[in-house]
Order: sequence, then structure tokens, then C-alpha cells
Amino acid sequence: MSQVKRVYTFGNKKAEGRADMKNLLGGKGANLAEMCLLGLPVPAGFTITTDVCNEYYKNNHTLPPELMTEVWDAMKKTEEIMNMKFGDPENALLVSCRSGARKSMPGMMDTVLNIGLCSATIPGFLKKTNNPRFVWDSYRRLIMMYADVVMEKADGAEPAEGKGIRKLLDEKLDEFKKEKGYNSDTEITADELKFLSEEFKKIIQRTLGKPFPDDAKEQLEGGIKAVFKSWNGKKAVSFRRIEGIPDDWGTAVSVQSMVFGNMGDSSATGVAFTRNPATGDNLFYGEWLVNAQGEDVVAGIRTPNPLNDETKNEQNVHLHSMHEAMPKTYEELVEIREILEKSFHDMLDIEFTIQEGSLYMLQCRVGKRTGTAALNMAMEMLHEGLIDEKTVVLRVDPKQLDELLHPICNPEAEARVSPVVKGLPAGPGASTGKVVFTAEDAVAWQRKGEKVILLREETNPEDVEGMRAAAGILTARGGMTSHAALVARGWGKCCIVGAGALNVDSARKTARIAGSDIVIKEGDVLTLNGTKGNVYTGEVELMDATENPKFQEFMTIVDKYRKMGVRTNAETPEDASLARSFGAEGIGLFRTEHMFYGKGSETPLFLLRKMILSSNLSERRGALDELYPYVKKDMKNTLEAMDGLPVTFRLLDPPLHEFVPQGAEKQEELAKSLGINKEDIAKRGEALHESNPMMGHRGVRLGITFPEISEMQIRAIFESTVELINEAKDPHPEIMVPVTGDVAELDFTRKIVDRVYAEVCKKFGVKEIEFKYGTMIEIPRACLLSDRMAKTAQFFSFGTNDLTQMTFGYSRDDTGGFLHDYLDKNILAADPFQTIDQDGVGQLIKMSVDKGRATRPDLKVGICGEQGGDPASVEFCFKTGLTYVSCSPFRVPIARLAAAQSSIRFGK
Ligand code: ADP
Ligand code: MG
Ligand code: MG
Repeated sequence: MSQVKRVYTFGNKKAEGRADMKNLLGGKGANLAEMCLLGLPVPAGFTITTDVCNEYYKNNHTLPPELMTEVWDAMKKTEEIMNMKFGDPENALLVSCRSGARKSMPGMMDTVLNIGLCSATIPGFLKKTNNPRFVWDSYRRLIMMYADVVMEKADGAEPAEGKGIRKLLDEKLDEFKKEKGYNSDTEITADELKFLSEEFKKIIQRTLGKPFPDDAKEQLEGGIKAVFKSWNGKKAVSFRRIEGIPDDWGTAVSVQSMVFGNMGDSSATGVAFTRNPATGDNLFYGEWLVNAQGEDVVAGIRTPNPLNDETKNEQNVHLHSMHEAMPKTYEELVEIREILEKSFHDMLDIEFTIQEGSLYMLQCRVGKRTGTAALNMAMEMLHEGLIDEKTVVLRVDPKQLDELLHPICNPEAEARVSPVVKGLPAGPGASTGKVVFTAEDAVAWQRKGEKVILLREETNPEDVEGMRAAAGILTARGGMTSHAALVARGWGKCCIVGAGALNVDSARKTARIAGSDIVIKEGDVLTLNGTKGNVYTGEVELMDATENPKFQEFMTIVDKYRKMGVRTNAETPEDASLARSFGAEGIGLFRTEHMFYGKGSETPLFLLRKMILSSNLSERRGALDELYPYVKKDMKNTLEAMDGLPVTFRLLDPPLHEFVPQGAEKQEELAKSLGINKEDIAKRGEALHESNPMMGHRGVRLGITFPEISEMQIRAIFESTVELINEAKDPHPEIMVPVTGDVAELDFTRKIVDRVYAEVCKKFGVKEIEFKYGTMIEIPRACLLSDRMAKTAQFFSFGTNDLTQMTFGYSRDDTGGFLHDYLDKNILAADPFQTIDQDGVGQLIKMSVDKGRATRPDLKVGICGEQGGDPASVEFCFKTGLTYVSCSPFRVPIARLAAAQSSIRFGK
């Protein structure tokens, strides 16, 4: 007698399993048991555990010897409930053999129906049912499925495309129908189905070199093994890789008495959602087919009928609904819908079959839904009293929130087209427009009232205006943190980067798509799905993700449970206000240099260049004085927009040579203004050249060499603050020093802060200006020495873009060349520039927080890298004790939700 229980029975309102036993019984097996316990009509059967799947693989593809004894014992119980016998010549019970993993893997594994039909049982079955057409139809279905799933796929045979046994049998069937002039399977007569079955068996023997088993027991054992084998089928394995499902979860096998939807016009099969999965509307939603079995509804052989009026659409409006055709059974199903929702407290996806007027439930599981539907349903269920507030917060996947903030492709329209090229989903939502190849064209065309897609090899800061003007951005090169991606996400603009198959010829204004003969020309219409990274030619209909009052209500509940702060990365009053409307509680990163790009940047950029190319202190001071009012205005406006909330100003960060003018015209203009000749300008520019600027003269190092640059910015911060206070405002500035690796750098800069502070106080006659002084932590050395850094710094903000770059030693602008290989070949589980590498970079962050707080217990700690809006990274930040995360405006709601979920899941 074996100690482990390998088989769990269900049927007749009893069950050995339960809904919460999904790990052992798979989702399908656990919920079949639960439905029995709820008293629903479920054909009896039993489930073989997922552990057996692992045993099967450990034992070199053999079933544990005790298993089949347990199976036949369980079969006996099933037979008693069903009052039939498996393999019996007079009163045969047929079963299905169904796969079911812990998490739903739709269509990835196999199921075989009608097991138990063979020469020993068919005559009795014919007599009992008195329905030869049904019997032979079931038999030919069994043969087709069994040959495909058990005899071919599970046996590891890999026939060439279109040469599989299923295909050969399908062809035979089609040929036959054509010969007879039939349009539908339902026209084939009983005798013809019998004939076809014999033909099928011959084709199987010929193709696979073995006979279709004519023994019920052998069929069942083969079916069980085939389901286990399908766990390691190609499709299932790659699905697991994508979804991150571990191999050792295994699949369960549910063996279940067959009920038949193909017994005639009072029989049917169908699928339904207890609420509309696209909108969340509280309306029963589904499809069904009369006289059909199994996958017929989803296979698209016939247009399925609508379940009810609510499900009618253009395609099926002429077909009668189940509500009309079988009102009594429909009412029964409506009752079951209620019972299920009350028990599962969620929207479910169900499968049912009607055999000669009797309704049977074959499956239920929590249904997949859109972001809009998830939110709407959660709010409605709260008001119905079906779920509590915490559950509401956990019901919406933070990634899905994106959908609610941007226009999207109409899913139905998108399903009808296929992408011509794919890239990385860098900016969310969808956009459609005419292609232009330069930023100038984007601006010009937009002025004419055109919607444009800006298509570039890659973007650089000079393209910003064009990117702003474009409805969508598409680049051939660059990763998720490339310039285009960062900027687009910041604006919540649709953007696809790194579409490597695009060969862009900017001069000719064309882009060829490698591996096809498609050439995209200026003015061609493209549609981008930035959430998926898909590019379509032509226009795909877009949908407005409309302002939704439920969204506001939902976010209020979210904030009730959130403990960690959420700020935004923003540099303009517009972005600051937008982020505020999305719930940002301050600015975690204001990049001073932003004012030198894009709209209105002409003059400040000119003055900055003048400063950069100055050859001595007095020239430089002169240029800085001219620049000062622009810097101050920017800072003041942003502080004002964030009135009452903190704004973290980062001192100038990028290497100066990035701003050296390249064009002759600009150089000349500068030369004139500086009173020197063009050659000198070029020389001074060359002197700033660096071979590795990202690790060169940048960040705090600029202020060490040129303290007057820091001084000017610090003065702008303090003066704007005092001016705003005098205007009865409530500014909260924070000064942040970038790219530090030693506390001495912070001490050096702090001296400048103190000096300027005293000067400003004196000038305005004030005693005190409230501010904080801190640093960005983005160099591993700063993490190692965080206890010292915290002596001077009142706050840390992890710049996880640079920190990741320096910890991995990957230049983040160059990951396009290799990172996809690292991901494809499973060397890295995820792009560390998108989600914090918790194993490596995360360890540095944790150490830094611990060391910093050992020195200064009230140290404020935040993160302002791109990962700040990534739900998994937010969760990590919460667990690590960060005070806040900061992300681009459109990600603020996502971060708020992720933070609230972390509090509920991991909070004390
Ligand atoms: P999947 O996991 O791919 O959905 P299922 O195991 O649910 O596969 O089987 C597919 C379909 O086969 C079901 O939706 C149902 O219609 C039909 N089916 C499975 N088992 C039975 C059964 N015992 N009686 C009648 N139909 C069944
Ligand atoms: Mg199913
Ligand atoms: Mg940085």
C-alpha cells in the first residue's frame, strides 16, 4: 500500500479536493472538486496529482507502478456515481483525459475526449444511445485526437509543417465533404462517419507505423501519459519561459466522465464569462453551439451563437441565443453564475455542456480581463459587498493601469491585422499617423495639422521638438532606457524602440524591413502599439481610454493602504502639474540640464555653450550671469507648481562636451559672441572631447573643477525659494549632488551651499531658508561608503540607471547589441534597466540604506531611476525600507498601486 495519495476523486456533490489545492490538483482539478462541493452538476471523475507528473519525469517517462491501481479504484467510484462502467460492452462509460497546471496555460497542453470507445464497447453504446450518428461522430473525434495527441505528439515525433497526422486526417475529412458536396460536418451521415473512422485508422497505421489501440484501458493509460508528456511539449515549455512558470510545477491529469453536447438538437456546448471581460460590465457574456463537442466553439468551425441579448453583435445577431432557445437551461446557468461568483468572489470563465437538456459544468477559473475591466469589476464588486477594499487594491495589475491612461488599439481591429515589424514596447498606448523621417518634418507636418509617426534610426536630444510633435515614435536602434524611450515614457507618448529589422535611410526618407519587401516611405500611414511593441502598416482603429470616475475612486482606496511615498521625475511646470494630477507627492528628480533641450531652449543653450567654451573664470562667470535668470525662472516655476511639496534639484550632470556645437553656423555665432575666431572655438571644443564621457567629466566633478557652475544653480534655488515665500507660497527645495563616490565631494559642495545660503539670507534679510542637502547614489563606491556619505547627506536618491550601468559594467546606451541575447539565452531573467536587479544592484542598495541609516537614522531614501515605475522594483523598494519612489508622470498611478499592494502583502 503506497503512502502517498496520488488520485483525488470528485462527483455527486462530494470531492476529496478543494479550490485551494491548485498546486497539487492543478487549476482545473481543484475547481472541478470545488464545483462539486458547491453542489453544481459536474460529471464525476478524479484528478491525478502534479506530483505524479514529476515522478513520471524522474522515473524516465514511466508512471509510478502503484498509480494505475489507484486509478482503477477511483474509476470504480466514478462508475458507481455515473451508473456505467468503463470498457463495459453493454453500458460503457466514456471519459476525457484533461491537463491542468497550477496556473492556466491556455491551449498549451492536451486533452483527449471520448476515451473508451473500441470494438468491444461500440455495439452496446449504439444500442444504448440509439443514435448511430452520434456514436460514430464521437469515435472519429477520438481517433483524430488520440492519433494527434497520444500517438504522435507525445511520442516525440516532430512531423514537418503540414505533415502531422492531425492535418492528414483533417484533409481526408475535407476531401470527403467536398466529394459529397457537404458544407458542414453535421451533414455527414452515420454510415459515412463509420467509413471515415476506418479510413482514419488505415492512415494512422500507414503514417505512424502502429495501430490505433482498440482497448479502453490501453487508451486511458496512453491518454494519461500523453498529458504528462504535453507538459514538456515545445509550446508548453516556451510558454513557461515567457510567463516565468517553473518546470517543476508539473501538470495534473483530470479523468472525467464524458457528457455529450453532440447528441442532437437538445444538446450543446458553450463557454462564458460571468461578467464582460473587456469592459467589466456586470452582464453574463458567452457563446454556445448546438450539437457540438469540446473545442468546436473556440475552434471557429462554425460561428457560435450568442448566449443572450447582451452577447449579440454584428456577426451573430441573426443566430438564436441560448436564452431564447433553451430558456430553462439558461436560467439554471444564470443561477450557477451567481453561486460561483459568490464563492470565488471574482469574475470567472466557465465551460459547460448540455446533454439532451441537462446542464453540466466542465470547468471554471478566474477569467482574464483588460485593465479597464479589472478596475470596473473590482469597484462594482466592492459596492456589491462581494470583496473588501484590500482585495480591490490587489485585483488590478499595476501594469494594466497604463491602459486606462492612454488611447489604445481597438482589440478587435488589432486582431484582424498582423505586425510588419516588432520592437521594444517603450512608450505605452497606441498611435497612428503618417511617417516622417526627421524631427523638423515632424514639427512642420504637425503644424499643418497632420498626425505623424517619427521614424528614426535612433533619437538624440536634438530631436526632442519633433518627438513632442509626433503622435508616436519608432526607432530602429536603442533599448528601453534609450533617449527616445525615456522621453516618450515621461510624456506618456506611444513609442517603439529597437525595431532592429528596420533599415532606415534618412537621406532617401525610406525604411526597408529586413526579411520582407516592404519599404516604408515618407507619408505612409503606420499604427504603433507601444504597449506590445507591434508596428502595423495602415491605420488600425484606436480607442479612447476615457476618463473614468471609477478610476479616481479606486486610486483613493489605493492611497488609503499605501505607506511609501511616490514622487515624479519632472523638469517643467506642465509635467509637474500633470504628475500632481496623477497623485505625485513631490519631485524626486529635477534635471537642471533639461532646459537646454527642446522648446524655448535656444537662448539658454547658447549661453550654456558660451559658458562651456569660455577659457577663463571671468568669461565663464560672465556667461553664467547671463544664464542665471533662465535657470532661476525654470526652478521657480517648478517649485511653484509643486507648492507645498518637495522638489529635488539635481545639480548639472551631463558631460559638457555633449553641448559643444557641431554645426559651423552655430560655432561662428558663438565665436562672435565670445570675441574669438572660429578655429579657437573648434579647438576649445576638441579639448572637451572624452573617450568615455559617461565616466568622464560629469556630475559633481564639474562642480569640483568649476565651482561657479554649482554656485549659480544653488543661488537660483535659494533665491526662487525666498521669492516664493515672500509671495506667500510654500516651497520645499532639496539640493542633490549627482555621481558622487566620496563624502569629500559632498563636503566640498556643501561649503558652496553654505556660502551661497548666507549670501542669499543677507540679500533678502531672512534668517532661515528651509532646504535639504543630499546626494544621488549611482556609483558602487558610494554604496560601499554610505555610512560616511550620510554624515553630510540628509537624503539619498538611488540613480538606478547609472548604478545598474556601473554595477554590471554595461554601457546603457549600448545594450542593444547584446542584451536580447542575454534574455533569449536565459543568462539574465530580465532587463536590469527596466526592473531592478535585486540579486546584485539590489544588494548594493540594501547595504547602502543600512549603512546610511546607521549614521543618520532619519535619512530619507528614494529612487529616481527608470525602474521607479516598475511594479516589481517598487515592491523591492518597499521591502528595503525606502521613503519614496520617483518615476515619470504617467507611471505615478502605477507606482502608487504597486506601493499599496506591497503594503498589503508585506507590510507589518
Ligand atoms: P483546455 O484546458 O484546453 O481548455 P479542456 O480539458 O478544458 O482543455 O478540454 C477542452 C474541452 O473539451 C472542454 O472545454 C469541454 O468542452 C470538452 N470536454 C473536456 N472534458 C469533457 C467531458 N468530460 N465531457 C464533455 N466535454 C468535455
Ligand atoms: Mg478548458
Ligand atoms: Mg545618473
